[in-house]
Amino acid sequence: MPDPAYIDAVVALGQEHGFRVRAHEPMCDHTSFRVGGPADVLADPSAPEHVRLLKSFALQAKVPFALLGAGTNVLVRDGGIRGIVCRLGPAMGHIEVDHVSHRMSVQAGALLRQVSLRAAESGISGMEWAVGIPGNVGGAVFMNAGAHGGTMADVVVSVTTLTCQCEFRTWQASELAFGYRESALQGTGDIVLEATLQLEPGSREAIERRHQEILESRRQAQPLDLPSAGSVFKRPPGDYAGRLIEAAGLKGRARVGGAMVSEKHAGFIVNTGGATAADVLALIELVQRTVRERMGVELEPEVRVMGDDSAPL
Ligand SMILES: Cc1cc2nc3c(=O)[nH]c(=O)nc-3n(C[C@H](O)[C@H](O)[C@H](O)COP(=O)(O)OP(=O)(O)OC[C@H]3O[C@@H](n4cnc5c(N)ncnc54)[C@H](O)[C@@H]3O)c2cc1C
Repeated sequence: MPDPAYIDAVVALGQEHGFRVRAHEPMCDHTSFRVGGPADVLADPSAPEHVRLLKSFALQAKVPFALLGAGTNVLVRDGGIRGIVCRLGPAMGHIEVDHVSHRMSVQAGALLRQVSLRAAESGISGMEWAVGIPGNVGGAVFMNAGAHGGTMADVVVSVTTLTCQCEFRTWQASELAFGYRESALQGTGDIVLEATLQLEPGSREAIERRHQEILESRRQAQPLDLPSAGSVFKRPPGDYAGRLIEAAGLKGRARVGGAMVSEKHAGFIVNTGGATAADVLALIELVQRTVRERMGVELEPEVRVMGDDSAPL
């Protein structure tokens, strides 16, 4: 367990270099599930150099270090997160468009929605599928996010990261081993800082029409009025988690505390108010067990669980 004095040292680092650092920050305010205890430190770097400073501080002080994007695919446990949570968000959300090559350079903290809208404005096609996904570019590269027939793997040319040894590295797409909701980065601890995307010329009107279709179909199909982390489980081979959960009789019925299997989309667990991470985790287990027993299929969570059960310092 690190000496809690490190918290003041990280706050001082932020003050010295001009980026925001908050101590004992409740993670329920920074995750779309709206659950989770406090992080010892939440830092919002605004430049790659700040990320390097934070990571090297953590290595030297032997303090745990975790990454967060928009917090839309994570479940933070009720005890919160010990150590530094480095969030790549709007402060590192720069988007650049090259109108000749139809490439976009996007920082990790840029929202996918913003990238998709910016491409549309520029008459560039290839990111329409991402308009309704609430995550950031960094989390989307890490997860190989996808929807409506598109994925990050289809558009990423290269990615710049900070490695575990605190060095900047450029990865070509072929090195990233993208698979279904998988990338090589899930095993390396690299921090995504920026990505270059190859898109193609398109008609602005057609792209905007596609955006409207996608947003409407998501409004119809997903419980967007309640906190969630999207689909909780990965799609099992040849099937859909939502279909299996519904067939197992759990849609809109299975509940633990404030966590419930959505009545609109059985693949979503929603926070109906006051859910704890323990409620959500117990419901995930209940769904897995029931689907295993009744449907003979093992569901694997897509949501990434972070943090501790134990109380903070
Ligand atoms: C309503 C709703 C709908 C959704 N629909 C979809 C969908 O259609 N398709 C889909 O794929 N997903 C969907 N999601 C899930 C989520 O939006 C995506 O997985 C998204 O890409 C996660 O991005 P994030 O920035 O929120 O990542 P976070 O949730 O903050 O983090 C996810 C993981 O990525 C890691 N990470 C974050 N940033 C970085 C970084 N810079 N470098 C390295 N690792 C990093 C984190 O440590 C964590 O393990 C949905 C979520 C919600 C709430």
